[in-house]
This record gives sequence, structure tokens and C-alpha cells, in this order.
Amino acid sequence: MRLKSINPKNNLNINYWDVPSQIEIGRIINVASITQLSWQNLKLDYRLELINNLSKVLKSQSKELSILMADEMGKPVKQGNLEIEKCIWLCKYYSQNANDILSIKNIKTEYYKSYVSYQPIGLVLGVMPWNFPFWQVFRFSVPALIVGNGILLKHASNVQGCANAIMDCFIEAGFPKHIFNNLQIPSSMVDGVIENKKVSGVVITGSTQAGRSVAKKAGECLKKTVLELGGNDAYIILDDANIDLAVKLCVEGRILNAGQSCISAKRLIITKKNIDRFIEKLINKLEIKVVGDPYDDVDLGPLASKRARNEVNDFVEQSIIDGAILKMGGEISEYEGAYYPVTVLVNVKPGMPAFDEEIFGPVFSIIKAENDDDAINLANESKFGLGSAVFTSDIEVGEKIANEKIQSGLCFVNDYVKSDPRLPFGGIKSSGYGRELSSYGLMEFVNIKTVVVQKS
Ligand code: NAP
Repeated sequence: MRLKSINPKNNLNINYWDVPSQIEIGRIINVASITQLSWQNLKLDYRLELINNLSKVLKSQSKELSILMADEMGKPVKQGNLEIEKCIWLCKYYSQNANDILSIKNIKTEYYKSYVSYQPIGLVLGVMPWNFPFWQVFRFSVPALIVGNGILLKHASNVQGCANAIMDCFIEAGFPKHIFNNLQIPSSMVDGVIENKKVSGVVITGSTQAGRSVAKKAGECLKKTVLELGGNDAYIILDDANIDLAVKLCVEGRILNAGQSCISAKRLIITKKNIDRFIEKLINKLEIKVVGDPYDDVDLGPLASKRARNEVNDFVEQSIIDGAILKMGGEISEYEGAYYPVTVLVNVKPGMPAFDEEIFGPVFSIIKAENDDDAINLANESKFGLGSAVFTSDIEVGEKIANEKIQSGLCFVNDYVKSDPRLPFGGIKSSGYGRELSSYGLMEFVNIKTVVVQKS
């Protein structure tokens, strides 16, 4: 069996990747497990030095890696460069903060000594998506490696070139061979890896459906999981919002990566006082956005595959059948490849795919709210709960809504949601559980060891 990389801008095959046999996978896991035991015995400072080296390797290869992303999944090269920059930021954040986060925490008791330390758990499997092919892998693997774990990567089938390039970066940075392993397998082989006794935990970033399947198998095998799943989060624009600012930030937050981001502004809920003005300004801004070849200076490239593009189109068409009104875009472009135009749907309501589902493309779903309270209720009428935003001139009100009323793992006031190495990232409801990034992410795949010492 072979995995294929297909360039979404022209649908040409770029590369084939041989899938290893079950026996070969077992061997890779055995070697990784032996390597992990010596890795965990190295000093934390040495592991952090290698993470520092890794950021230098990324810096030196930024251009080639961005081109690889463009070729395998259509991300414009300039956005690919920013993704590599963000991975470098993550490496720097953890090399500067891991010592503090992982320091022993003494607990006062009647014993001579009692404390908590943080120990590795073994091998962590990461099942990763194609949409941020470097960032998603770095944000789970760097903290797990720092703690002393080993990594097995099951990257999305269509970005195996990226997966192998990441593995090469680790080796070039001086990491031991076999501590970071790209398994090069399709999703059908994930269950077998989870079942392997040497695998201790699994993190999946992907769709709710894939998350459910991984969590089911990991539950059966009693293995720790972190699920970073989809979202169709609400950005609510209240009566007193600065509309120019809200439009600008909703556009930026939605067209990044051609709308293929778990936290992009998928449902825009605007009070009736502002909705007409908002739509007019939105369309003016979107009309000047350039869709085109990811090698050029464009705002949006193609979607990751024709299948992904057709799914977006099906959701848009079904929403129109259900009563949404198409204001812009909405037709598959005449370019060859997986391009989809910037699309605006208004009159979106619960029961339509544009309200209920995650549309993974540059589609703006505009929802009218009667007033601010109605906007909050509509925001929470979702099976997802990942990253939301509130736009208002009254930042105290905005903060209270963000903190107490919106059901999501992250909520930003007067900005679009971004992942940031310093801040925990993750969802609730069908968006998953557990956290990545920050000190919280570092703590997911550790054994929180309680040690008690009494004099004899
Ligand atoms: P996907 O189809 O769920 O695939 C993600 C990964 O899971 C791929 O490696 C895929 O392998 C694998 N997979 C799929 N079905 C599986 C199964 N039944 N068992 C085990 N593994 C399985 O998602 P995608 O289309 O690549 O990515 C888009 C989704 O990821 C969106 O829903 C997006 O919101 C979500 N996402 C979430 C976050 C977050 O932090 N919460 C971040 C980014 C993306 P194959 O490629 O071999 O099918």
C-alpha cells in the first residue's frame, strides 16, 4: 500500500510513500521504546539545548519547508513562512520556561519530605491533520519530548513529505535517531498502534469523527488521550461594537489558511442593529482578496484537495436549499485544482449546515441576532466549543461574556482567536478535551509522581 501526495493547485501527483508492514511498525515501536528509555535519563538542560538547535534548523530551512507545504496542501508560501516562525517561537518558549514548569513542587506534610515531580510516560502517538502540517506536530511533540517521552507520528496521508521533513529536522538538530518516528501509515492502521503495549498515550488533532474513533480504542486499552477536534465557533458582534474593527478581524480570522483552521471565524452572529452595515463592509473588504497560486503573493491558495473543496461546496449548496442567501462566491471556480472562492451566506439559521457543521473553507456564515442576549444564546447553540470571540466597546461587559457566558475553551474580546505558545489551547463539547501549549500542554503526557520520604 502507498500514500500519495497530490498538489491541490493542479491535482498532479507529487510523490508516493510506501506504507510499512505491521511487522515493520512493531520493530519501529520497539526501537523507539528502547531509545526513549535512554532519552529520559538525559538531563533536562541537554534536551532543551536540542530544542534550541531545532529552532535554528527550522530558521535555516524556512523557505524550502514553506514550499513543501504549498506543494502538498496549498498553503501560500508567505503563510508557510509564518507557520515555521511560530514553531520557532514555540521552541523558544519551552526552552526558556520548561525548567520552571517542571521543577519539583514541595508539599508540606508531617513526612520528612513530600513532593510532586514530573516523569515521562513513554511513547506518545500523535495523529495529526494536514491544515498546519508543521505547527500541529510541533505543538504536541516538543513538550512531550522535553518531558522525556518518545514520539510516534501518524501524520495525515496527504502530507507525508512534510512528516518526513519534520523527522529530518529533529535528526539534524542532534536528537537521537528513533526518538521521533514518522510511521507513514494510513488511518486504518492507527488502532493497531494504539493497541501496542509500548504506546502509553495518544493525541489526535482532527475531525470529531476521527477523535471519537481514537478515543474509543484508547479507552478500550486504557491509554491517556488528548483530543483537539473541530469547531464552528461563534464571533458575536454586539450592539456597541466597533464595526470596522470587527469586520477587519473577522476577515483576517476567516481567510487565513483559506478558512481551513479549527478556530477561524465560522459563524458571525451580529445584532440586527448592525447587520446591514456589517455585511456591506464585509463584502467590500472581501472583494479585494486575491485567490491564486500559493507561490505568488496571494491571500488564499487552493483548498487541500478536491474532496475537501467538494465538501465545502456541498455544505454551501445545502444551506442555500435550506434558506440561506448567497451574497458572494459560492461557485466552484474555473481554475483547475481545488480552488474555492471567498463566499458569503446571509440569513443563516440553526438547522442549516452553515450553522450546525464545521465548514472547512473560506465561507462566511452571517447570522442575525435580535439583541446581545440572543447573540450569546445563538453562539452557545452548537455541538462544538473551541475558540470564540466577542466584539464590543465595553470591555468589562465583553470580558464577563467571554469568561462566564460563552461555552468554549478559548474566548477573545475584540480580536480573532489565535493559538499562542504561552496560552493553553483546547476545547469542550465535541471540540475535544485536554490542552496543548503553555504549562498545561507540558503537563498532559507526564506521570505526576508523588514522592514521600520518611527517615528510618
Ligand atoms: P481528519 O480527517 O479527522 O484527519 C486528521 C488525522 O486523523 C489524519 O491523520 C487522519 O488520517 C486521521 N484519521 C482520520 N480518521 C481516523 C480514524 N477513524 N482513526 C484514526 N485516525 C483517523 O481531519 P483533517 O481533515 O485532516 O483536519 C481537519 C480537522 O481537524 C477539522 O475538523 C479541524 O477543525 C480539526 N483541527 C482541530 C484543531 C484543534 O486544535 N482543535 C487544529 C487543527 C485542525 P488520514 O489522513 O490517513 O485519513
